[in-house]
Amino acid sequence: MAKPTIYLDYNATAPPRPAVVEAMQGVMAEPLNASSAHQAGRRAKKIVEDTRRSLAAFLNCWPQEIIWCGSASEANNSVINLFEPGNILVSGIEHSSIIHAASGFERIPVTPDGVVDLAWLEVRLAAPNKPKLISVMVANNETGVLQPIQEVVALARVHGVLVHTDAVQAVGKLPLDFTTLGVDYMTLSFHKNGGPVGIAALVAKNGAPYIPYIRGGGQEFNRRAGTENVAAIAGVAALLDGWSLDEMARVSDLMQGIEAALPSQITMAGQRVPRIGNTVCLIMPGIGQEVQLMRLDLAGICVSAGSACTSGKIEPSHVLRAMGVSDDLAASSIRVSAGWSTQKADCDAFVKEYLALFTKQVGSDKIAT
Ligand code: PLP
Repeated sequence: MAKPTIYLDYNATAPPRPAVVEAMQGVMAEPLNASSAHQAGRRAKKIVEDTRRSLAAFLNCWPQEIIWCGSASEANNSVINLFEPGNILVSGIEHSSIIHAASGFERIPVTPDGVVDLAWLEVRLAAPNKPKLISVMVANNETGVLQPIQEVVALARVHGVLVHTDAVQAVGKLPLDFTTLGVDYMTLSFHKNGGPVGIAALVAKNGAPYIPYIRGGGQEFNRRAGTENVAAIAGVAALLDGWSLDEMARVSDLMQGIEAALPSQITMAGQRVPRIGNTVCLIMPGIGQEVQLMRLDLAGICVSAGSACTSGKIEPSHVLRAMGVSDDLAASSIRVSAGWSTQKADCDAFVKEYLALFTKQVGSDKIAT
């Protein structure tokens, strides 16, 4: 009999929550185009606009500031596309949908703990050729390390520079207040925390420069052409109804249990700084990540390498490289990420398998606690 799947790869995508699936199934069979003037269209429009209002209340922003998009990658590209590459400063640990959106960006370095270097940023902003946009994420998808967004905004304001933040890994996990953060643009996704794939949002502050990235019809107040994904938006509405930040405290406890159970030879990227509680990037020196992933997969455990896998070849993580981790150690790293449906038994099964791999490599007498 096949082993049950133990899913610990929430930062790639999370299992959709039952209420989300139910809400989507409830409308999926209907012809819902929110631009149609007839009654079916009006029903669709109501779902789209009611959910926009609920999301705005959740984020403390204006409903008109929210633009529904097809993915967070699209939202990130939409912002980056507004500026010439020479006018953009991005942190070296951004997701590839920022890093690859255009070439020639200047990168903000990060500390060995994976936090943007604010001292560097302050000096850079005081120098000639100021950028027009800074992009720094809220929480890194590979390490979970939290970034000082309000401090970045404070520095940017002094110099009249706009700020974008990619909040994809923080949505529903941390309090996210658009107004308090003070950013001009924010990217959101829902499928990393039990919502649907195929829907995301860009929040663009009233008055911030914006031209549509996708042109065509006049959807989304002429800011993003294309028929809205109404079923997915209905799923987002269900997600917003059910979210509670208390869930994250439970998940963080489970993850801390994993960290506490591992020997000291296994290190964690960003161990000394605040991280989002559902994510840990583990480095097991001497054992390649392909071997680790394969061994865990055979045991029915899904985790990820946390770095880009193109044509079957895992590239060294640009995030760990930016933190100064050697390519050898980066090649021994895996990302474990948990969420709403994770149970202690899942974490115990992971620890058992992961430790067995390590013990086989170093011998049981060499394990340091
Ligand atoms: N930004 C971050 C921080 C992410 O982790 C991801 C996905 O892993 C994305 C953007 C892109 O999301 P999507 O692939 O859904 O477009």
